[in-house]
Amino acid sequence: MDKISLKEMKLYGFTGCLPEEKKNGQYFYVSIDMMFRELKGAVTDELSDTVNYAEVYSIAESIVKDSSFDLIEHLAYEIGRKVISSCEMIDAVKVLVRKPDAPVDGIFESMETEITVRRSEAVISFGSNMGDSEQTIRLAIDAIKQIEGVEVKRCSSLYWTEPVGYENQDDFLNGCLVISTYLKPTELLHELQRIELDLGRVRTIKNGPRTIDLDILLMSGVRLDTEELTIPHPRMYERAFVLVPLKELGLYNGTIPDDKAVRPSGIKFEV
Ligand code: AMP
Repeated sequence: MDKISLKEMKLYGFTGCLPEEKKNGQYFYVSIDMMFRELKGAVTDELSDTVNYAEVYSIAESIVKDSSFDLIEHLAYEIGRKVISSCEMIDAVKVLVRKPDAPVDGIFESMETEITVRRSEAVISFGSNMGDSEQTIRLAIDAIKQIEGVEVKRCSSLYWTEPVGYENQDDFLNGCLVISTYLKPTELLHELQRIELDLGRVRTIKNGPRTIDLDILLMSGVRLDTEELTIPHPRMYERAFVLVPLKELGLYNGTIPDDKAVRPSGIKFEV
């Protein structure tokens, strides 16, 4: 990976848990590493093929100066998010924030935190079998496009599929979406759950009818197994309604169990 760094920017700000930190402020030292799979500017010597350091400096400066978060962790995260979203070339940003005058008794050099914001490609599956499913899916994709930090790249066509698990219900309309995002996995899950709720999803019967279901199938560089979130999705390789659209997107080439239960609908959205 190629890297550009801005080290030890000395910036005055008001982040801290204590009232006097928010009132009086203190100096923070911010270092930013920007990582690139391949920094074109190294080869071309063109200004337009690299990041604008002055812009990165002013992003860090204005966030430190104008915010008063409780935690330097959050301050670092906000800087990372703003920097990565300012320039498409950046694949990851590492932000180190030091607070040498932290109000802690004792002798120490500084309190510091390092937060990484990374761009990943993720695959989301969607399904609906209540109300106007085509319209609901269209609205869900539009809402996903609106999430700050998410860019929708590709969408499979839609398939009619027979219900799995609880069979006394209508067929589903299913498909998959490829996105690029710098959100953390759980943050992405919460955004998808918010959209499910906004579109009227009520959780009742397990595997039962639903206005919209949005699941994270895969996320590049992420393997996760917490109470809340498992990536890759634990049941994706058992589900024809996931594997057929994945195969269409060129993201799966294995066998598909029970693929007759999946029928093309003829519907495809441009994204
Ligand atoms: P569902 O009924 O399919 O929407 O299941 C949602 C539940 O599964 C939620 O409580 C999530 O926290 C959990 N879950 C675990 N892993 C995932 C995943 N990869 N994508 C979406 N939900 C997940």
